[in-house]
Amino acid sequence: MNHYETEAIWQLFKQAGYERKDFESHADVYVINTCTVTNTGDKKSRQVIRRAVRRNPDAVICVTGCYAQTSPAEVMAIPGVDIVIGTQDRGKILEYIEQFKQQRQPINGVRNIMKTRVYEELDVPAFTDRTRASLKIQEGCNNFCTFCIIPWARGLMRSRDPKEVIRQAQQLVDAGYKEIVLTGIHTGGYGEDMKNYNFAMLLRDIDEQVKGLKRLRISSIEASQITDEVIDVLKRSDKIVRHLHIPLQSGSNTVLKRMRRKYTTEFFAERLARLREVFPDLAVTSDVIVGFPGETEEEFMETYEFIRAQRFSELHVFPYSKRTGTPAARMPDQVDEEIKNERVHRLIALSDQLAKEYASMFEGQVLEVIPEELDKENPTSGLYVGYTDNYLKVKFPATEDMVGQLVKVKITKAGYPYNEGEFVRVIHDVDDTIRLSS
Ligand code: SF4
Repeated sequence: MNHYETEAIWQLFKQAGYERKDFESHADVYVINTCTVTNTGDKKSRQVIRRAVRRNPDAVICVTGCYAQTSPAEVMAIPGVDIVIGTQDRGKILEYIEQFKQQRQPINGVRNIMKTRVYEELDVPAFTDRTRASLKIQEGCNNFCTFCIIPWARGLMRSRDPKEVIRQAQQLVDAGYKEIVLTGIHTGGYGEDMKNYNFAMLLRDIDEQVKGLKRLRISSIEASQITDEVIDVLKRSDKIVRHLHIPLQSGSNTVLKRMRRKYTTEFFAERLARLREVFPDLAVTSDVIVGFPGETEEEFMETYEFIRAQRFSELHVFPYSKRTGTPAARMPDQVDEEIKNERVHRLIALSDQLAKEYASMFEGQVLEVIPEELDKENPTSGLYVGYTDNYLKVKFPATEDMVGQLVKVKITKAGYPYNEGEFVRVIHDVDDTIRLSS
């Protein structure tokens, strides 16, 4: 989300005639878009702010984002900080800079985010990355999981106007993007603050109305948001990819309860089973937190077994990290770092094994891939790296002009993190033909 919003902020500067410089070089204005998701996020944000001040003490230093929103006084107190803006009113950034240049007085533009009920538009018509475009569809979250500070940094759920979503999706496709990733703080919660419209309807409308779109990905969706209506839209669409990221966080009901997650493992498993009836080869990735306060070895093993049984195709494993200001940080029985690390390693090993098993189902098959970049590990090899719709990472021989195009690739050797492939052909469609000839 921060990456997306940094691009949006850059658009504001670009329109005002600014030039973008590398962060480490000398500039007139530095914008630091901060993170606060963990205590380390705060610390790193402070370090980066200080680095910018050192780089050019005369520059305008503007701090924005989640850390700025939750701790404006702390940020203002850092010597050299001139402007603080939270997670709203980013559109005022240039105005504040002008005001600062004239008055040389620090500006605190942070307002109470909990009172904000309307989605704030921030356009991103193009990305530095050529292949995949993110599209923000909502902001905020109403869940207040006990480990998470995000609702305090982002406020409550606000959905973007569907017409704006469609308009921007079309703009991105017209700019050449084949794949759009719907993003948000609580993406699948889209529409929960609306009457007569929901996430399934948004998916259907994008699918039907955005001309030329090839792939639609949902960055993350909660098990409770995978309604039968959503499954039905997935079934009818040939653009929504065969990959869902469904955060699990824990596979133990007692831990889920302490986390204040709003589902049980039984419910999660039932939704997954329903999805797999319709899409037998669906890739399901997930996030897991290990070492949540009070997590016993038995509870950890419940998570381990659940993950094995549910055959996730890849896991993002995080050791629980205390976030000041959240209920979980004050819970008794905090787990030892050593135990956390050991559990993280066990789950990563399981994730690797499951990922390989999942990938091996596709050996010998021809899949559609969008090449993203030259293989960084071996740039002279002529191999490019890209993702299939079901999120397999494939290395295969390609050429620079294929980057961002949809191509057919045969998976010759399944593996993890990379699969090896053989280029088959570029997929040209009617739209491409028209664009090329006009
Ligand atoms: S659902 Fe929970 S973890 Fe996700 S943003 Fe909301 S409070 Fe945080």
